[in-house]
Amino acid sequence: MSSIQNKINELRIELREHNHNYYVLDNATISDYDFDIKLKELQELEAKHPEFFDANSPTERVGGAVTKNFETIVHGHRMYSLDNSYSKEDLQDWETRIKKLVDGDIHYTCELKYDGASISLTYENGKLTKAVTRGDGFQGDNVTANIKTIKSIPLQLKGDNYPVKFDIRGEIVLPFEGFKKMNEERIEIGEEPYRNPRNTASGSLKLQDSAEVAKRPLECFLYNITGTNLNIQTQLESLEKARAWGFKVPDAAKLVNSIDEVLEFVDYWNEHRHDLPYETDGVVVKVNNLQQQEELGYTAKAPRWAMAYKFKAEQVSTKLNSITYQVGRTGAITPVANLEPVELAGTTVKRASLHNADQIEKLDIRVGDEVYVEKGGEIIPKILGVDLSKRDNSLEPTLYITHCPECNTELTRQEGEAQHYCPNYNGCNPQIIGRIQHFISRKAMDIEGLGGETVALLVNEGLISNYSDLYELTKEKVVPLERMAEKSADNLIQGVALSKNIPFERVLFALGIRYVGETVAKKLAKHYKSIDAIANATQEDLVNVDEIGVKIAESVSLFFSSEINLGIINRLKQFGLQLELSAEQLIGQTNILEGDIIVVSGVFESVSRNELKKLIEDNGGKLSSSISSKTSYIVAGNNMGPSKMEKANKLGVIMINEYEFLQKIQ
Ligand code: AMP
Ligand code: ZN
Repeated sequence: MSSIQNKINELRIELREHNHNYYVLDNATISDYDFDIKLKELQELEAKHPEFFDANSPTERVGGAVTKNFETIVHGHRMYSLDNSYSKEDLQDWETRIKKLVDGDIHYTCELKYDGASISLTYENGKLTKAVTRGDGFQGDNVTANIKTIKSIPLQLKGDNYPVKFDIRGEIVLPFEGFKKMNEERIEIGEEPYRNPRNTASGSLKLQDSAEVAKRPLECFLYNITGTNLNIQTQLESLEKARAWGFKVPDAAKLVNSIDEVLEFVDYWNEHRHDLPYETDGVVVKVNNLQQQEELGYTAKAPRWAMAYKFKAEQVSTKLNSITYQVGRTGAITPVANLEPVELAGTTVKRASLHNADQIEKLDIRVGDEVYVEKGGEIIPKILGVDLSKRDNSLEPTLYITHCPECNTELTRQEGEAQHYCPNYNGCNPQIIGRIQHFISRKAMDIEGLGGETVALLVNEGLISNYSDLYELTKEKVVPLERMAEKSADNLIQGVALSKNIPFERVLFALGIRYVGETVAKKLAKHYKSIDAIANATQEDLVNVDEIGVKIAESVSLFFSSEINLGIINRLKQFGLQLELSAEQLIGQTNILEGDIIVVSGVFESVSRNELKKLIEDNGGKLSSSISSKTSYIVAGNNMGPSKMEKANKLGVIMINEYEFLQKIQ
């Protein structure tokens, strides 16, 4: 083995180990910084030595592969569903049934039922080769590229004591904390928050861009091994083995000897599940002995040897006192149910989201109704329905508001959208305040000395009406404000002045253009280099930028088509904000590739894919992710996909290799 190969192997083993310690055992053994340095080192070595490519290297976890259509794969072993039980009697009936079918004592394993999306992973010679969604149970989608980005799933198993080939099944879940963080980021860029962790987890598996999946803090809990010649005797043993091979298997699983003990397990977790960082919706009871499992077999739909016991969702009923409507920064209207306070799952519930007009109509919910409230995976409790037996005949049906509760403008609702919007972008107070609050926030202009409440105060006192007004505030103007001491006035003015140094991409993010989050702002800034160039770009132009879709392009165009917005931006310019890339950021940049629309495909030898993309953008070229008749040329590396190759040939698009490309920009 060459010394380079040795080094690559060592790094892979080391990174794999740290990864396992951190993501599976929750026990960090390296700092993030050192991990990144080593990962980068490995990435560079691999880029220079494609002959040592390994589809399961830790570097593959960052994602980047884009799948347009997921391939359908037939499961080697069918993925069954589970029969449900809801009471002690159901479980006892089940035991009676199976006792007639097998000999000997029956022991059970009790596991938690994780609420997410099921997945089947195939390992061959210790390497992950395939990850397939459940689909209809017979066949599912090949989502391997996305699954590889989930850090707690081993790409290479630990030890050497595993079967040559087997399938292992588990549940992909999104823990509450990660879900909450994702939603905060969505709200920040004006997207509607996701409803619950389960749907978000299953939606994540089908994202086309695996780099996007890599950003989501997904987890995978394993619960079942299938295959032939596995040499495993019990379910509990299979969980232990899976753990030893490097999989994440929660340790709640317990072996019990009777249905009474099963019920004790259920009772315990019914209470303690609220302390878990992820969602569970019940317990799965399985016959522990695999020989007995085999004898019991399957019905048309589910194994006879397993039974789900669903937790009763915690529900209470209470009175709906009123419905109010909130206006968000983007003008989106959210109806909120104000409830008679009631205890539920350890907290006092006073409010619940009603989501939108359709939801209200579906529930036919009326002020004064007695309603059922449930706390599920959603962060805010949800209203399940109305107790019609208690409905007072005099209650009026709910009419959804037609005008903004804040500015009285008539609401609009785009076709296909669930939400109503207040279109009064420039005159609706919560929108004005929300936009300025976003502008000053930490990830945007990061204005110290100015907080969200002060912004509201400044707007309500008529001192500012958009973010450019901040730069005209003086100490004299703000000192008279309530609770504003001299010192804080100084801090405010100074904080605003300092923000003039914030780099262009963050200013662009701060403008609060719908769908333009931090990443998109960076992309646009890098590509266009100045606000004027972005303002002048046509929609068609914008969608041609790598990773910019139609929705974003439309929103950007709309923003810059407004005279008012252009006026505000002009003022920002006059006040000296950074509205173009700085000289430092422009170093190494040329216009050599101007007008070229370039597709990058394959694996490269002398530069990494990302470096190549950067070179293209730095030299004025446009990156495009798909080949079309507009493509100027393709920079093709090794292992270019066959479908891309075919398309390129069909359209007669020129292909050059990386060295020819580097010559171009020399
Ligand atoms: P259901 O979707 O209600 O029919 O329940 C069956 C699903 O429960 C399976 O497809 C699995 O994805 C999921 N599940 C979650 N946790 C477990 C577990 N510990 N054992 C077996 N299945 C589980
Ligand atoms: Zn309004």
